[in-house]
Amino acid sequence: MKKILGILLFILMGAIVLSKEVLYVGTNAEFAPFEYMENGEIIGFDIDLINKIGEKIGKEIKIKNIAFDGLLPALQTNKIDLIIAGMTVTKEREKFVNFSNDYFVANQVIIVPENEGTIINMDSLKNKKVGVVLGYTGDLIVSKIQGVNKVQYNSAPSSIMALKGGNIDAMILDSAPAQSYVAKNKGLKIIEIDSEVEKYAIAAEKNNENLIKKINKALEEIKAEGIYDELIIKHFN
Ligand code: GLN
Repeated sequence: MKKILGILLFILMGAIVLSKEVLYVGTNAEFAPFEYMENGEIIGFDIDLINKIGEKIGKEIKIKNIAFDGLLPALQTNKIDLIIAGMTVTKEREKFVNFSNDYFVANQVIIVPENEGTIINMDSLKNKKVGVVLGYTGDLIVSKIQGVNKVQYNSAPSSIMALKGGNIDAMILDSAPAQSYVAKNKGLKIIEIDSEVEKYAIAAEKNNENLIKKINKALEEIKAEGIYDELIIKHFN
């Protein structure tokens, strides 16, 4: 009897160790209103959303702030379990990670100084100095237009600063953060362009199908219960 109890206890402990209670989630807190720093704290739509998902699937969420182009490598080397970072689903990224169902739809826009009149579409960026953020989808799109003088920055806020300082003529950014930064920084405006629709999703490791399934179910519930809409109103007004 004692022996059986001992074995059972051993199995139970093993199960506890295996079912991790904490999920480490990587983000890059320079992408308002999805994730950004305020008073030393990482906040935003994505952070609220992943915490709600955590509640649903019974895991504690711990956020790690990582450079955007370091997020995929961190996931692949098990430093984090998930990424939530306004990350667009792309074919290239899908080679390395599993994406959840999408939770937000976006597109790219151009930001220019308010008095700029010649930049009206992507083609008019030729021969201009255009800021992008390293590794963002906007970076890839600008790379496809010939004759653009592309300048890479490490974050959206630093590219915004360069634009305000006159170091670049324009910059490319995802629509929702562009609106957020233009609202907070005087003297800038947005030029809408014909750009592909981008879908943001949560990423997990390739072999973590189970986790993605749970996240998708949680996402569905969060939408059905009106929590998603509450978060949209909270962060996009
Ligand atoms: N949506 C863009 C991308 O995935 C930018 C994301 C971000 O900066 N957080 O590349």
